[in-house]
Amino acid sequence: MADNLSPEDRSRCMSRIRSQGMKPEMAVRSMVHSLGYRFRLHRRDLPGSPDLTLPRRQAVIFVNGCFWHWHPDPSCPIAGLPKSNLEYWEPKLKRTRDRDKEHTVALQTKGWRALTVWECELRDLPAVMNRIRAFLG
Ligand SMILES: [Zn+2]
Repeated sequence: MADNLSPEDRSRCMSRIRSQGMKPEMAVRSMVHSLGYRFRLHRRDLPGSPDLTLPRRQAVIFVNGCFWHWHPDPSCPIAGLPKSNLEYWEPKLKRTRDRDKEHTVALQTKGWRALTVWECELRDLPAVMNRIRAFLG
């Protein structure tokens, strides 16, 4: 499937995403849309109700907030355990992380491919765009 936007349109789209400080999920939706893909949102019949589902690609995309999904990348500037109430936060965030992994495995078992886009990665929109494009093929 071709990228249906001209380079000018795409850069306009990117600067709109950037200037509006769009929520991560909305930014990814606009990006996938601008690449010319059709998708469905939050399909409840799939493990983890993926943020975006592309049935024809057998592909799903999760857009994860770095704090709530506890981004495991040590260079992530957002993820991390709060200093207070550690006994509350650590098991809570760990459960979310474990659940995310289970969902990915369950999806793969059903023949779906899954990509996770992290909130902090959206500081470099072209890089995310390239990852998404490579993933969707
Ligand atoms: Zn992150």
